[in-house]
Amino acid sequence: MTKIADYISKNARQNVVEAIKRANDNSEYHALLSLTEERALERADAVDRGEITGRLAGVPFVVKDNFLAFGAPTTAASRMLEGFKAPLQATAVEKLEAEGAICIGKANLDAFAHGGSTENSAFGPTLNAYDKTKVAGGSSGGSAVVTALDIVPFALGSDTGGSIRQPASFNGVVGVKPTYGTVSRYGVVAMASSTDTIGVFTTDAYDAELIMDIMAGKDDKDMTTLPDFFKPTAAKSGLKIGLITETMTDDVDLEVQQATLAYVERLKSAGHTVTEVTLPIVQYALAMYYIIVPAEVSSNLARYDGIRYGHRAEGVANLAELYGKSRDEGFVTENKRRIMIGSYVLSSGFFDAYYLQAQKARTLLVNEFNKLFADYDVLIGPTTPTPAFGLGENTADPIKMYLADIMTVPASLAGLPAISVPAGKSAAGLPIGVQLVGQRRSDAMLLALAQSVEEA
Ligand code: GLN
Repeated sequence: MTKIADYISKNARQNVVEAIKRANDNSEYHALLSLTEERALERADAVDRGEITGRLAGVPFVVKDNFLAFGAPTTAASRMLEGFKAPLQATAVEKLEAEGAICIGKANLDAFAHGGSTENSAFGPTLNAYDKTKVAGGSSGGSAVVTALDIVPFALGSDTGGSIRQPASFNGVVGVKPTYGTVSRYGVVAMASSTDTIGVFTTDAYDAELIMDIMAGKDDKDMTTLPDFFKPTAAKSGLKIGLITETMTDDVDLEVQQATLAYVERLKSAGHTVTEVTLPIVQYALAMYYIIVPAEVSSNLARYDGIRYGHRAEGVANLAELYGKSRDEGFVTENKRRIMIGSYVLSSGFFDAYYLQAQKARTLLVNEFNKLFADYDVLIGPTTPTPAFGLGENTADPIKMYLADIMTVPASLAGLPAISVPAGKSAAGLPIGVQLVGQRRSDAMLLALAQSVEEA
């Protein structure tokens, strides 16, 4: 697979023309919703004339279509925002552009990032890079697939409960979900504000470090951003690593367990110690997540009323009908399910029983993680219980779909950095990923650890 360095000091126009050709040649995967060809070529020519310089000068990339970016509509893969032209660009995109990177297109996702397979896209699913009968994963499925197919060397995604890590593991690439607040969320369509993070897909952990280094930092336009703490670092030796036993039960696919144990062996031969640890409260993490996230979703999606922006229904008799019909036509089933669950758990009779309980349980989860991090530097486990599942396999049963998020939601609820790294393939040739989780702000250390394993 190609790396960012393969594009540096090359003719930028050629980089862009070739990336767009690869995108078009691979259109059957439906990884991209649009190309930003005209703007990309203009920027490429500016790079070639020496007017734009930087650490990523002339490097093509793709952004998930819930990032506001110029050159194509920002749809969040929904009818609600179909054709929506961004009035500004996301801070993350601006920062990459300031270093000379060139966005060539917008990647498919589950509508409003609700999902784990990209099958909830209003415009049709993305196919897995290794097997077209399997899902790409999600919600950032398109970004994972364009990276895995070498269309571009990196792609941006958002991760609220696993949307970068899970598709990264399903497509054999590196996926980074940083510490909550590392990268500005300004200009990214909000899903659940207390767990939304911005991260990246790359083909190795060195490139991930470079992109995170560029994107990280305080942004006055996002009050949750942390002062820039992300500093590339050398790999530490002799780390204490905990293998979370709750992620290695009989419910987890045997090949996934074996790949995880093989990765553990590589960590051990690199001189780290790996011991089994337990995090009993993770059995409740999905229940917490699927209360808290819909609550925040229902609030964030309230802005789509058919009046201020987005889809507006026609042929309505009154205001209530305008709201109702616009939202009915603009949202997919999964969006509506979450709005309903969220409104329910926040309603006066049920707030204490559901939302408040979930928030209290979330605090217990944070405490359990903190207790482990008193003794361990890094926690490890599979990124997902199975390799990529079949298209249509889980769509009829939302609970089955939600179960696929069991490994990734704990770090999201606790705001911890977590990365998924390739750890081999199943007998059927499907990629398997393992997840490394660290304490808040240990992002660079996790990437350095992954680099040292890649090298060995
Ligand atoms: N699959 C998870 C969900 O459906 C994660 C989504 C995300 O991280 N955006 O909520």
